[in-house]
Amino acid sequence: MCVYGEDPSIIWITNPIAKKEHRCCECLSVISPGEKYELVKGVWGGDFLTFKTCQICAIVRDEANSQFRYKWDETIPFTCLWETVGCEYEEVI
Ligand SMILES: [Zn+2]
Repeated sequence: MCVYGEDPSIIWITNPIAKKEHRCCECLSVISPGEKYELVKGVWGGDFLTFKTCQICAIVRDEANSQFRYKWDETIPFTCLWETVGCEYEEVI
């Protein structure tokens, strides 16, 4: 579920290199060991959450967020990127 307008009370963003397999929270593709990804940890409404995003989705999110924030003064919620940008996306396995 996408909850708009909720900014984290605290957030850490890093770009580590995967040591094991992860799954992108946006496109659900596999982030392979050795691949760089975006790791976001933060507190939303009192809940500590972690989001891992592949490089492609991270770039798309950055780009989309700059327009989204301009238009609505909000950022796109994690896991809602593709839903928000309106792309039809089918998981490729
Ligand atoms: Zn992705």
